[in-house]
Amino acid sequence: MKREILQCDICGDEKNAIKEKQSISVIFTTEQNEGRAITPYLDVHLLDLCVDCYDRVIKGKAIFGSGAMGYNKFYFTGETGEVNK
Ligand SMILES: [Zn+2]
Repeated sequence: MKREILQCDICGDEKNAIKEKQSISVIFTTEQNEGRAITPYLDVHLLDLCVDCYDRVIKGKAIFGSGAMGYNKFYFTGETGEVNK
């Protein structure tokens, strides 16, 4: 039987211990239709987080988001546009 592997929405790691569908406020730096840069705003997203990224959030790291047409990238402060561990 195939084991389901979940992927972290922030760092992209595939792990077994993923905290699924955490409802988290993301600081968006683009509007989400065409990806144009705008004044940043908060938007709540359901994210699957690995334990490492979850830990960072618990310790106060803000999650930023950018993207368009449903393809959003999520990353931590200061790591502009980069998927970073
Ligand atoms: Zn992660």
